[in-house]
Amino acid sequence: MTESDPKPAPETRAIHSGQAHNPSLGLTPPIFQTSTFKLPTAERGAELAQESAPADFYTRWGNPTTKGFEAQIASLESAEAALAVSSGMAALTILFFSHVEAGDHVVVGQSIYSGVNEIVNGVLPRYGITATTVDSSGTGAIKKALTKKTRLILVESPTNPTLDLCDLRALAEVGRDAGVTTAVDNTFATPIHQRPLEHGIDVVVHAATKYLGGHSDATGGAFCSTQEKVDRAWYYLKLFGPCLSPFEAWLFQRGMKTLPLRAERQAQSALELARFLEAHRAVDRVYYPGLESHPQHELASRQMDGYGGMLSFEVRGGHEGGICVAESLKLIQLAVSLGGVESIIQHPASMTHGTLSEKDRERAGISPALLRLSVGLENCDDLKRDLDQALSV
Ligand code: PLP
Repeated sequence: MTESDPKPAPETRAIHSGQAHNPSLGLTPPIFQTSTFKLPTAERGAELAQESAPADFYTRWGNPTTKGFEAQIASLESAEAALAVSSGMAALTILFFSHVEAGDHVVVGQSIYSGVNEIVNGVLPRYGITATTVDSSGTGAIKKALTKKTRLILVESPTNPTLDLCDLRALAEVGRDAGVTTAVDNTFATPIHQRPLEHGIDVVVHAATKYLGGHSDATGGAFCSTQEKVDRAWYYLKLFGPCLSPFEAWLFQRGMKTLPLRAERQAQSALELARFLEAHRAVDRVYYPGLESHPQHELASRQMDGYGGMLSFEVRGGHEGGICVAESLKLIQLAVSLGGVESIIQHPASMTHGTLSEKDRERAGISPALLRLSVGLENCDDLKRDLDQALSV
């Protein structure tokens, strides 16, 4: 491929970016399952020790297999660079530590992964960093929360588990005007359905554990941004140590090749199931940005290329009703996490968001009857039948 060729489409880049095309190594890249690398000379060792993220010095600093995954995710997110880490939480922790210090303030969406909530409310204050959590479905509350000390705004869009959206272009403008870094957790949407950096957002983080890997068999994360920000993030990775293992990086490289296909099919099934559930007599409410009834459906159509594979719904009978449906499903598995080939369901009020106070859950719109469904790749009619029988118990 030459410079003048048009940029290949995402499904092509998902397969060919970051692949070490060395004929002696085979068609698919090998796993560099090593913690360290033989140095050709002492002089070269001294040079690598000074470099940011060398690929062949020491695996906590960098590794060729990890670099392949980083190139794939950077390409799909339209990022200058990416950094792979050992989990989504590691990516988020590095985001905080590379952007804020004692005396600083952060603004965080109130509907955010519960681990992040614990960091901003329980951990950051111990290091002299304050946080304000706000409704991120409009930029008004975000703007109002900014102070002279705010250094970072972090949101999810769509949010977990209520699938609210944040207007990313408007958020980027708020950040730019105030000189504050904006970051989006793009785990739910995936770069196939949404690329926040193209809307002017500064940083994208991922729990690669979910859709990027796509098979519920690897834990990892990614931080995508400019080379300068990625280099800064790498400094904290090198010191704190949550590097991605080469084997997991290889699993992510492999999983990413089918991400465009998986994401498209999961979104197609999610829309069909959302419509089915919306019409079901035992369901009170469905949350899915692809539904015309979603209050931000127009925004979703504007800023996303698809509506994603996640949906939530409220059933009759409160907490017990929710648990009864979740436990009555036969094909759809009861498990936390998301983004895999198998459909899974969980009860946010007692599981992913069970550590929040009742008041915080209420504020985030998480009712006791809410169930969150990650739509997999099974036949959609089979999934409908399973939901129907569980809702009829
Ligand atoms: N971000 C989102 C949206 C998540 O759902 C999760 C985990 O469920 C995380 C981040 C954390 O990812 P990990 O479990 O890989 O640390």
